[in-house]
Amino acid sequence: MNEFDAPGRKTRNVAGAVSDEKLAVFGGKPVVPPGRVKPWPAAEERHGDALRRVVESGKYHRVNHPIVGDLEQSLARWAGKGQVRAVGSGTAAIHIVLDYFKERGEQVVTAALNWPGAVGPIKMCGLKPVFVDVDMNLAAIDQKAAVGAFGADVAAILITHLFGNNVAVPDGRTAARAQGIAVIDDICQSIGGARAIGGAHLDADALALSGNGAKHLGAGELGFVITEESDLIEHVDRVSLSSSSRSGARIFSPSSQGYNYRPNVFSASIAKLRLAEMDRQLQIRRDNCNVLWEMIGGLGGLFPLFDPSDCDHSMLNFSLRVEPELLGFAPGPAARNFIVEALHAEGVPVCVWLTKPVFEYLPDIRDDWKAAEFPNTVTLLDTMFYVSEIAPPNDGELMELYAEAFHKVWNALQRQGPKIALGVLPG
Ligand SMILES: *Cc1c(COP(=O)(O)O)cnc(C)c1O
Repeated sequence: MNEFDAPGRKTRNVAGAVSDEKLAVFGGKPVVPPGRVKPWPAAEERHGDALRRVVESGKYHRVNHPIVGDLEQSLARWAGKGQVRAVGSGTAAIHIVLDYFKERGEQVVTAALNWPGAVGPIKMCGLKPVFVDVDMNLAAIDQKAAVGAFGADVAAILITHLFGNNVAVPDGRTAARAQGIAVIDDICQSIGGARAIGGAHLDADALALSGNGAKHLGAGELGFVITEESDLIEHVDRVSLSSSSRSGARIFSPSSQGYNYRPNVFSASIAKLRLAEMDRQLQIRRDNCNVLWEMIGGLGGLFPLFDPSDCDHSMLNFSLRVEPELLGFAPGPAARNFIVEALHAEGVPVCVWLTKPVFEYLPDIRDDWKAAEFPNTVTLLDTMFYVSEIAPPNDGELMELYAEAFHKVWNALQRQGPKIALGVLPG
């Protein structure tokens, strides 16, 4: 039983739900008509205008470009805390931040449910990742397990916020602080993590944000370091830029490591445009997820990865999981795989994310870790999927179509699936 498994949870009626129709995966008519979903990054005319402003500036380069400077300041203002430096990507941001804190130890504690781009930089810095399992109700690092892995050798804890999840883990942060361990939040998928939540910002030494085309800023290739440490801000330029000219004169770095993680000015121009409407974007993402969950929350064996009614999440996508046993399936990915295939055929933009713990994607460290040591991570990877297109201009009407497709698939599961699935359906 988890916190979302509320008995008596009501499912809003889905208008026009047709329970007996043949599933699209078996040749029936898809619920969501082709072309109805607008995929992110939802290109608009004005993105072309943003690119044109860079062309008209006559400068295509990062060096002291006012668009980049404006964006850094706007993002700092929006976040309400810390200074901001734009860099080439979210991965670059994580690399630079870890590079700054690497003197504190040899290891970085992070979750086994993770993104290879978040974990790769640990090795780039000559550090060693130490993986811990995730909390099932958070789909993020289990703070007790993290604290258990802390020791004199640990330089940092890297807290990855996946799918727009806001990951507070206050005890993990406090324990890290007490032991001189740097707290780094990978908010690449969760831009709202840069802002105060319930009156307080995340207690972190640094945040790494991505502006790539799939993320909230949907800007091509771009990243940001956000921190209150002025020396870390300087470190961004010191190690990652061979030259900079923030105050007019061109300065060649005396200690560049030659990464040249410069932000793309064209991407920065699009990001600036989107940032001005970020609150609206986040609100629509949250509203869409809420409205969808209201309509599908009563389906047996279906759970959100984290509570969609919590307004703190950034909902990059709407991640869900199934409990195969409640649907009469054996444990493992079979139930999820069938559901994803069926929903996909109905025209719902659903994806299976990674299917293995992160170390299995990284050949250098693959052999040091075993999936079986991370049961929650494996369970989530076997059972989760996400609905991807929940951003504007997609709206509540489209969410109703998604919901209709979910109901159609669940009805078929009830009719044809093993009887045990019916017996335990909540609601
Ligand atoms: C996208 C992403 C990154 C890397 O960002 P890029 O800009 O693509 O380099 C890092 N961590 C997480 C969790 C991400 O989703």
